[in-house]
Amino acid sequence: MKAQPKASHFIDGKWHEDSAGEVIEVTYPGTGEVIARLHAATPAVVDAAIASAERAQKDWARMQPVERGRILRRAVDIIRDRGAELAHLETLDTGKPIQETEVADWPSGADALEYFAGLAPTLTGETIPLGGDFAYTIREPLGVCVGIGAWNYPSQIACWKAAPALSTGNAMVFKPSEITPLGALKLAEIFIEAGMPAGVFNVVQGRGAVGAALSTDPRVAKVSLTGSVPTGEKVYAAAAAGMKHVTMELGGKSPLIIFDDADLESAIGAAMLANFYSSGQICSNGTRVFVQKGIKERFLARLAERTGTILAGDPLDPATQFGPLITADQHVKVMSYIAKGKEEGARLICGGAAGNEGPLFVQPTVFADVTDSMTIAREEIFGPVMAVLDFETEEEAIARANDTQFGLAAGVFTADLARGHRVIGQLEAGTCWINAYNLTPVEMPFGAVKASGLGRENSKAAIEHYTQVKSVYVGMGPVDSPY
Ligand code: NDP
Repeated sequence: MKAQPKASHFIDGKWHEDSAGEVIEVTYPGTGEVIARLHAATPAVVDAAIASAERAQKDWARMQPVERGRILRRAVDIIRDRGAELAHLETLDTGKPIQETEVADWPSGADALEYFAGLAPTLTGETIPLGGDFAYTIREPLGVCVGIGAWNYPSQIACWKAAPALSTGNAMVFKPSEITPLGALKLAEIFIEAGMPAGVFNVVQGRGAVGAALSTDPRVAKVSLTGSVPTGEKVYAAAAAGMKHVTMELGGKSPLIIFDDADLESAIGAAMLANFYSSGQICSNGTRVFVQKGIKERFLARLAERTGTILAGDPLDPATQFGPLITADQHVKVMSYIAKGKEEGARLICGGAAGNEGPLFVQPTVFADVTDSMTIAREEIFGPVMAVLDFETEEEAIARANDTQFGLAAGVFTADLARGHRVIGQLEAGTCWINAYNLTPVEMPFGAVKASGLGRENSKAAIEHYTQVKSVYVGMGPVDSPY
């Protein structure tokens, strides 16, 4: 098999197998070919992974931060040196075009590791003068953190979670989605090659039940999940019972508001990126595109023209710009949303059918005249389906954009920068763009409000979510006691 790893799990610095676990077949979405066969973790595997993380964490936390950073930095070099090989594996695992995985997935993961490798040694506490006495604070790691990933950016998600966790002295057990289990195993192997002590980063495979076992284990201090809102609710509730820290990166139905003074080509380019990149399987996508009435028809005509030039095909061909969806289930789901759009009276501008490049392809699809109550304007589709809604006034656009349970992302296109800031200031979203969309540099916090999640990944803000503050009061004189 093309991408068979040495074993299903990576625990305590070594490959680990337990063939008693349920079989997981990994398929390449480009052709449906089985590329690896793994086993889900049994309770014994889950236990071994957490025990190994617990053992390794104390020494790792005691290591000088700059030394931890150096190991992470070596991992970055390995990832960059093997960029082509890793991108190839990511394309096999996800079906995303190689032209995406070469620039977006592992490269973004490497940026996160590089950023936190440099940041961790700069973290210090405070000294608080109190007259004669004083206090100081120490920023400590949480302990064993569990990372649970979605299937759309599997390796990036593993790196985004590992980087802030490990750099600050935590250990991690990571469970990828069972649909895309391969990249995280590579990361575990690379960390060992970079000199990371055994047990600091462990990978176990499995479905939701394995995620649930990890997130309820009393030895675990934190759970960081990237997944859907329903899964987030379950994991958050389970974590709450154990008083664990959480980061929740969940789904969205984000608004992208385009005013009639916007640079039309840029706005269209952004709307396409915000709906068709990774075949639309991106949490922060701007899937509700609000276009001001004055430019609506021009916008739609040019959008249809540019969408018609998107090159769909073999994900391993460097010329391919658009790949298949991840699974047959996802294909059925996306096609049923397209049917709903037609049924509920949205105007189909382009696409609207399965693609003929393979069984999991869906044409890049644009619906216009979408209203706020239509299903395709309310639910996360996670496929290449853009809903264009029109609006007249700024106030109306803001109110309608906010009329959703989700709050992951939002974007505004306008030539009037004062308006750009004013509108963004009123949008209920954690991650926003003005005259850009879906750029997520590691230097910028990434996260959500409302049902789309809590906590932040990337940037200095992530440090808050992987450390806790210890306060130490130091008495410098005799104790003044009333007794
Ligand atoms: P799911 O919510 O189905 O799964 C996410 C992960 O959680 C998987 O590894 C899954 O395992 C696991 N899981 C499922 N049930 C439980 C449970 N009870 N306890 C612990 N873990 C569990 O999401 P998808 O994988 O389908 O990914 C798509 C979703 O992810 C979309 O909603 C998307 O918006 C969101 N997403 C959010 C991002 C963000 O940063 N905000 C980024 C990327 C995606 P298994 O798959 O094996 O069932």
